[in-house]
Amino acid sequence: MTIKVGVFGAAGRMGSTVCDAVLKDPGTELVAAVDPHHEGLDVKTVTGVDVPLVLGGSCESMAGSGVEVVVDFTEADAARENLRWCAANGIHAVVGTTGLTDADYDELRASFTSSNCVVAPNFAIGAVLMMRLAEIAAPFFESVEVIELHHENKVDAPSGTAMLTVARIAAASSEWTPDPTTREILQGARGGKGPADIPVHSLRVKGLVAHQEVLFGTTGQTLTIRHDSLDRSSFMPGVLLAVKRVADRPGLTVGLDALLDL
Ligand code: NAP
Repeated sequence: MTIKVGVFGAAGRMGSTVCDAVLKDPGTELVAAVDPHHEGLDVKTVTGVDVPLVLGGSCESMAGSGVEVVVDFTEADAARENLRWCAANGIHAVVGTTGLTDADYDELRASFTSSNCVVAPNFAIGAVLMMRLAEIAAPFFESVEVIELHHENKVDAPSGTAMLTVARIAAASSEWTPDPTTREILQGARGGKGPADIPVHSLRVKGLVAHQEVLFGTTGQTLTIRHDSLDRSSFMPGVLLAVKRVADRPGLTVGLDALLDL
């Protein structure tokens, strides 16, 4: 039995990669694709993915497709609406869109009662391991800063991965040396401050995809944990894993860790 999948944001960079991955996996079937500004166009024309589907313009265009799991790679405002529709219609959701807040997670927890939702700010297995390793390292160091680096079109900062990383580091240790800076000559030079005042620096550079470094320091030594997504295909094994497992995870699951038994 294949899983019938619909994709929100199908014409986007991630969405079109997901369409391709779903089509190629023998366990999944692409039955619907939505992207409002491309409504009515062939999926093949817009994404290059060879499937006889026409792009829909709204959630309602998925009705009647038999979709069981929806994958959302859009933007936060669009994802909120799409996920309300999934919850109301008993359809499982796998969400990669970043920029969702704790209030959004509360809403998802309350609304996904007849179907389930997996949200992961990063579907790359290496990035999930980076966060877990950072959490393990945290109690052994006194300084930490997070540097996330992305392509020039990313609209939100810091990345969802950076936000989740600092939250997990702060939960693992609250004993961090205070920032010594008393005079910031360029505003923002010391980055944004996350939980436990951990600095997060966001770089946007053409040519990059998605990268992150966690730099720990203590007396006479540093530890750098770095992950690089060199291509959007790096996210696909994680997305497909979530598509296949979401039905077994009641309510809301945040992060891939639970699906990887880390
Ligand atoms: P993108 O290329 O801009 O794609 C987003 C697509 O969603 C666009 O085609 C956009 O159309 C479309 N869209 C907007 N509103 C929509 C709606 N209501 N319904 C359906 N489609 C809608 O962006 P991207 O690089 O693919 O990234 C998408 C999201 O994934 C971002 O939040 C990014 O941070 C996140 N991301 C997550 C991971 C992860 O592992 N979790 C990895 C990479 C990226 P228009 O452009 O015409 O408005």
